[in-house]
Amino acid sequence: MEKLKGGCYCGTVRYEITGRPEWAAHCHCRSCQLALGGGFVTWAKVAGKNFEVTKGTIKTVEKTPGIRRGFCGDCGTTLTYAAEGEVEGQDWSADAWFAAATLDDPSVVEPKSHVFVSHQQPWIKVADGLPVFQEF
Ligand SMILES: [Zn+2]
Ligand SMILES: [Zn+2]
Repeated sequence: MEKLKGGCYCGTVRYEITGRPEWAAHCHCRSCQLALGGGFVTWAKVAGKNFEVTKGTIKTVEKTPGIRRGFCGDCGTTLTYAAEGEVEGQDWSADAWFAAATLDDPSVVEPKSHVFVSHQQPWIKVADGLPVFQEF
């Protein structure tokens, strides 16, 4: 299987995924805006067993109970998102979500939708024709 590599801005944390991302979406939620310091973030996912940290350690912050955001403790790059148990009726714990732009070649990611556009900033104009969801 194809391996794709990625990591944080400073290079302390590196990871590998096996295969292509199974899903990706742009998240406009306020929490992502704050965690990333950006207008929105593009999340991609693979099965949990297909995501491996190969260098360094991902630190986590859990502001919302059950939601752990992973980042590099040295440079602060947001790397991962993990939800315990069921969220919106889906079990997310088997998946590894990661920030798509942290892949060495983010162009392989194919986002499928925009989510939480109810939080979208007015200065973000979406014109890519993808489905938009008010929440998830
Ligand atoms: Zn770093
Ligand atoms: Zn979000």
